[in-house]
Amino acid sequence: MPIIAAQNVSVRFPVGRRKVLTAVDDVSISVRRGETFGLIGESGSGKSTLGRAIVCLERPSEGRVLHEGANPYEMSRRQMREHRRQYQIVFQDPAAALNPRMTILKSVREPLDAASKGTPEERNAIALEMMARVGLGEAFAGLYPHQLSGGQKQRACIARVLTLRPSLIVCDEAVAALDVSIQADILNLLAELQQEFGLTYLFITHNISVVEHISDTIAVMYLGRIVEIAPAERLAKDYLHPYTQALLSAEPVALPSSMRPDRRIVLEGELPSPMNPPSGCRFRTRCRYADDHCATETPPLRELAPGHFSACHYAETFRTRPGQEEGGE
Ligand code: SF4
Repeated sequence: MPIIAAQNVSVRFPVGRRKVLTAVDDVSISVRRGETFGLIGESGSGKSTLGRAIVCLERPSEGRVLHEGANPYEMSRRQMREHRRQYQIVFQDPAAALNPRMTILKSVREPLDAASKGTPEERNAIALEMMARVGLGEAFAGLYPHQLSGGQKQRACIARVLTLRPSLIVCDEAVAALDVSIQADILNLLAELQQEFGLTYLFITHNISVVEHISDTIAVMYLGRIVEIAPAERLAKDYLHPYTQALLSAEPVALPSSMRPDRRIVLEGELPSPMNPPSGCRFRTRCRYADDHCATETPPLRELAPGHFSACHYAETFRTRPGQEEGGE
């Protein structure tokens, strides 16, 4: 049984009196226990909203998110409060996640205090143990957030969520604000902690190079929908959606040659508004392979190889369609 099963999840927000913004539109994903699931897409693609829905910070407008087969919204308030501790989130900005007036030890201990777990001494011991585990020794206990670097603050945030011994951690752009060298340190730390604590990660990022080394499965999101999903090693060899191709080709850092499209593909135009998405295929206004069929019919997510799904009418042929060669820079 998957640890997370999002089934036909839509999340909508009212805008003003009459308009509705559909941030996530009929998305289904399944995350296995112990895996790292990478979710990539541009800013505004709905990936963070989906992550928040998965940890019950956003209630689906339609569909449901099951945690090991159970729907948290069918639990009593008390059960749900207990249950949610198993599903934690680490945000992009560690400075905003830590109270500037609390010492690091107090911030790390806070979730245990809120849960009234054990005695104060026991909570201190657990918090110090988790701090040590993420590389923050006792010398950091009495410091305040402004006295730490960005990487150290993110380590404190990771220690904080670990105190509750979660099953799943959503990392929402968790390394995006850090220098590249620090990003590597944090990613390595997360990989070690996954082994040690049997964690499952949902790794949300706009940068495919961040997730391609650490993910087991990668899903690509565009304007609220999943457009491609595949085992990571398969996506590396054989992406089957023009949007994935454009994301891969836009990477400034060195991707393995197997992942790099031959030519850089420039994505024209802005992401359309989720309040007024294009008809048919939502990517059609920026896709150089689009034709009339793409404007009238929404491409379903089709399984084209074991575990590899693409929502493109021409997934089997787009790499060899006319325009591929001329479109590069
Ligand atoms: Fe492009 Fe059409 Fe495929 Fe959409 S369905 S990605 S517009 S070729």
